[in-house]
Amino acid sequence: MSRFFSEKYSMLVPYTPGEQPKDVQYIKLNTNESPFPPAPRAIELAAAAAANVNLYSDPECRELVKRFSDLFGVTHDEVLFTNGSDEILNFAFMAFCDKDHPAVFPSISYGFYPVFAEINNIPYEEIPLKDDFTIDINDYIGIHKNIFIANPNAPTGIALPVEQIERIIASNPDNIVLIDEAYVDFGGESCLSLIKKYDNLIVAQTFSKSRSMAGARLGFGVANRELIRDMNTVKYSTNPYNVNAITQAMGIGTLESEDYTRKNCQTIIENREYTIAELRRMGFTVTDSKTNFIFAAHPDVDGETVYRELRKRGILVRHFTKPAIANYNRITVGTRQQMEALLYALRELI
Ligand code: PMP
Repeated sequence: MSRFFSEKYSMLVPYTPGEQPKDVQYIKLNTNESPFPPAPRAIELAAAAAANVNLYSDPECRELVKRFSDLFGVTHDEVLFTNGSDEILNFAFMAFCDKDHPAVFPSISYGFYPVFAEINNIPYEEIPLKDDFTIDINDYIGIHKNIFIANPNAPTGIALPVEQIERIIASNPDNIVLIDEAYVDFGGESCLSLIKKYDNLIVAQTFSKSRSMAGARLGFGVANRELIRDMNTVKYSTNPYNVNAITQAMGIGTLESEDYTRKNCQTIIENREYTIAELRRMGFTVTDSKTNFIFAAHPDVDGETVYRELRKRGILVRHFTKPAIANYNRITVGTRQQMEALLYALRELI
């Protein structure tokens, strides 16, 4: 830390992204990326957009918003595109939380939530999951705090039915409820349509997983127009050109390729179900994932050893040190070939 670093950040523990090693060619199953390239149309439009980056990008993302609204049945002022969905999460923390409006989220969930709370000086509470890693919605009914829930949750992969999410939203009318649907396209149920019914709901989604655009950074929030306006106030006070022109073009190309996205999601779901069945056959405890990752532990080999041994064999998965989940690893679902390599390595190791 330099002697110039502001004291207000001196205690900040930043989010730790998954490893992105460049030295060895690993089978990368550690950051929930798609194993499939972006849609060909997205690559084509990106190349055309690159020729014009002497000009600033459209701060309103008008063309992208138009395509999106047509496809998802929302109006232009009910959506806000961001630099990955991390940015819409940060905007929501900044816009709606403060010492009088603290945040709550599950104790085992996306590791960035407490970091967003810390950097914005927001008090927060982490609510434990049940022993089976599910969320008890009773913990959130009428809690009178701003609620952040990943659905499906990460790293557990477990999804809540929309009807249960709706009970949380309805019971907290004076607080915002942000549902982070980063993984919803792999079998979860979206509550996007509920934004017409509840003025306190924000749905966040990303192009990073199902739409193969992690490296281009595109996410979005959908909500009542007043909530979107508030988050735009934050956006225009921090980074008006938050989505660059190449990424906007890729987003448009990707939305023109919904069949491609659906086909890839279907392949991931099939590979997930196949791999989960094989892991269970080997004695692993595996949650019922509705995502593009698998959360698994073995009774005989501890989680860190599994992580290390896989790494030695050229396979990267994600291990978390939090005691409640230290025995588990989060394994991204890749191609069938990658899954076979994983299973081969695990059979050797178990
Ligand atoms: N939410 C959850 C639950 C995630 O796991 C991730 C991925 N790390 C994100 C949001 C953010 O993804 P991105 O910024 O790439 O959209």
